[in-house]
Amino acid sequence: MFINGKWKQAENNSTFDVLNPATGEVITRVANGSAKDISDAIKAADTAFEAWSSKTSYQRSHYLYTAWKLMMDKKEDLARLMTEEQGKPLVAARNEVQYGADFLLWFGEEAKRVYGQTIPSARPDQRFIVLKQPVGVVGAITPWNYPVSMITRKMAPALAAGCTIVLKPAEATPLCAMEMFKIFEEAGIPAGVVNLITTLDPKPVGVQFTSNPVIQKLTFTGSTKVGKMLAKEAAQHMKRVSLELGGHAPFIVYDDADPVHAAKGAVLVKFLNTGQACISPNRIFVPRHMVDDFTKEFSSRVNAMKAGNGMDKGVRIGPLVGPDAVLKVENQVKDALSKGAKLITGGKRLTDGPLEKGYFYAPTVLTRVTRDMLIFREETFGPVAPIIAYDPEDDVIKMANDTAYGLAAYVYTKSTSRAMTAFERLKFGIIGINDINPTSAAAPFGGMKESGMGREGAKEGINEYLETKLGGFSI
Ligand code: NAD
Repeated sequence: MFINGKWKQAENNSTFDVLNPATGEVITRVANGSAKDISDAIKAADTAFEAWSSKTSYQRSHYLYTAWKLMMDKKEDLARLMTEEQGKPLVAARNEVQYGADFLLWFGEEAKRVYGQTIPSARPDQRFIVLKQPVGVVGAITPWNYPVSMITRKMAPALAAGCTIVLKPAEATPLCAMEMFKIFEEAGIPAGVVNLITTLDPKPVGVQFTSNPVIQKLTFTGSTKVGKMLAKEAAQHMKRVSLELGGHAPFIVYDDADPVHAAKGAVLVKFLNTGQACISPNRIFVPRHMVDDFTKEFSSRVNAMKAGNGMDKGVRIGPLVGPDAVLKVENQVKDALSKGAKLITGGKRLTDGPLEKGYFYAPTVLTRVTRDMLIFREETFGPVAPIIAYDPEDDVIKMANDTAYGLAAYVYTKSTSRAMTAFERLKFGIIGINDINPTSAAAPFGGMKESGMGREGAKEGINEYLETKLGGFSI
């Protein structure tokens, strides 16, 4: 762990295994932090806050810029480590490192644009000035599916704003987090400004992040279930919260869309990170008369995807994160088939040869999916594409909005009017119109409804780490 500028074992010397999900082998063991380690890290962040927040934004920007350069130099090593620890194919890991680095550069620049304002007063002797100031010490909790970019998406704006941080990565991917903290150390960020706690039991971290009076802000990316629980606890102490939670993205194909273009886009975004992405389409709506053509194109592309160890050339489908993830996918597919879905391809674990020891599930396509199936409601987080037929009299946007989630949605159409109507009516925070990658460090990312609150990236991303202070001056 990295606490107050020093690398440390856990105070009680406890450790835990980090596994390679493609082989089931232990990569190494890391520190299993205790409650005492967590409070030490919070104390260090508290002590460092005054000096860090007093630096000029140009100075803070320079640290972020240096970290960005170091990250670019280490891009290949970081990507290889990510593939080993998290399982995604090497090409995808390289893309993630680039995406993660973008936040350091973008917020390094944005640090210099934390503007306040002056407001005219009705009184001639009065002046109003609004200051933006860092919120204080931040507790950050990140998931395993994007083990590098979820760290920079939180830390870059927090550091730019002048906050200090304690971060806890997911127990499946502490190694990527450790490499990122080595970069922050090498960039010369002062002791205590960034602190890393690795632990197998996240609960005591949640308790301290939501109740320790030093922590002013909790930023969390993970499941809706844990996010709700943390938000409830944080509310007891009125802590600020940003939550990036689960999704259940609809992918709407209109009858004027090119089925080949739409199928190509749908396959690319569905199987991104083996379906383990919060913006992964979970319901693909296709006009009934187009379902056969669309499914043929879609499944031929799926059948061409090679599953295996992400280190091997040509692999597009890596392992799932662990045995529970495989069980969840199996359960959803079984439930759908028992209720009348049709299996087009996949639908089973992959256990041939070297895949036997990893957590592999075949990329799967289901048609005749209906509202009564688990997969219509539950986030899958795996490589299963459910295709739902709709008729001309159906209000497909209403069908798409029929979920408690509200993170991402996709629409394929050639009609500007349909695109605009869908953009306005869909109750999701991110809408891709003929576009499967509506994400960037410069764009606000986040969800509505049970997909969370707050935004990451863009101007909104730094606002999450700033307080607004009003000064009324009588002169
Ligand atoms: P998870 O909620 O189980 O874990 C996420 C993080 O929370 C991990 O670091 C974990 O250790 C920690 N955690 C778990 N229980 C905790 C507790 N009681 N107290 C404090 N921390 C706790 O989710 P997961 O399965 O690791 O991640 C997948 C989920 O994350 C999916 O639902 C996905 O949609 C969501 N996700 C959302 C986004 C987004 O930006 N909206 C991005 C990636 C993942």
